[in-house]
Amino acid sequence: MTRTQYWLTNIRRWFDSSAGSDHIDATSRSFNVIRVIPFLALHLACLLALFTGVSAFAVGFAIAFFLIRMFAITGFYHRYFAHKTFKTSRAAQLVFAIMGASAAQRGPLWWAAHHRHHHQYSDKEEDLHSPHQGGFWWAHAGWFTCDAGFSMDERRVRDWLKFPELTFVNRFDSLIPAAAAGLIYGFGEALAAWAPGLGTDGFQLLIWGFFISTVALFHATVSINSLSHVWGKRRFDTGDDSRNNFWLALLTLGEGWHNNHHRWPQSVRQGFRWYEIDVTWYGLWLMSKLGIIWDLNPIPRHIQEETRTLDAQRRNPS
Ligand SMILES: [Zn+2]
Ligand SMILES: [Zn+2]
Repeated sequence: MTRTQYWLTNIRRWFDSSAGSDHIDATSRSFNVIRVIPFLALHLACLLALFTGVSAFAVGFAIAFFLIRMFAITGFYHRYFAHKTFKTSRAAQLVFAIMGASAAQRGPLWWAAHHRHHHQYSDKEEDLHSPHQGGFWWAHAGWFTCDAGFSMDERRVRDWLKFPELTFVNRFDSLIPAAAAGLIYGFGEALAAWAPGLGTDGFQLLIWGFFISTVALFHATVSINSLSHVWGKRRFDTGDDSRNNFWLALLTLGEGWHNNHHRWPQSVRQGFRWYEIDVTWYGLWLMSKLGIIWDLNPIPRHIQEETRTLDAQRRNPS
């Protein structure tokens, strides 16, 4: 492939993540400057807040959209698509795949494939986003800026390939955040016309409600790759360096109980004690009561006993 062809292929990959996949070296860890431009643009667009001004409505919208999508990422991208900790209908899995994709963290199958790889090789040399292999910033925001990160190993998500609607969302993942941005702009313009007292408009709501919300959501999510493997307490000796961290658990709706999660990834709950706040679990529990999801994998009895024993030993070391 000539240099020009390589550049053009990478521009096509902004919209069609499988474009040119036969010619891309899926093991390369060198920085792909063209492919990464949309990610950089997402960050730079936040600076436009200097020109849009701000309103309470725009900030409230940004926080609400952050929380809804964080729930879709933790509850579905992570606990459903990557780990299958519960069951749901084909329609519900598609709705949450789309909600998750609106977070601009790529498609559900790409996300799950890389995450399954992380669990298999956690903090070992093969782990693509370990702070103990590539350093903190690599684990946070470097690992997906190369073709090894941008590519997806289909073999890791064979169980999902039978759903054409999911492979479509996964392949054209960037269309969903683009559509969300358009809708938010339109909503802001409608509010400017019909509810001018809110002090917002399309441009302001786009920058706060989409760009700033999405960038904050991105950094909160990847803090589990970076910070959760360096900052916090270890309850279980899991063979990696995963940690439990109350603050990260609050920020990520429960994902901060990452050492618990590495001990028993099959559990729908990541807070193993009642006081380990896990908002995603509360949301999933509610959805199960409403009949939207079912067959939630519990924390097994032997893991509950191990948790209590280790906590007792920590309180009374002898
Ligand atoms: Zn981990
Ligand atoms: Zn996991």
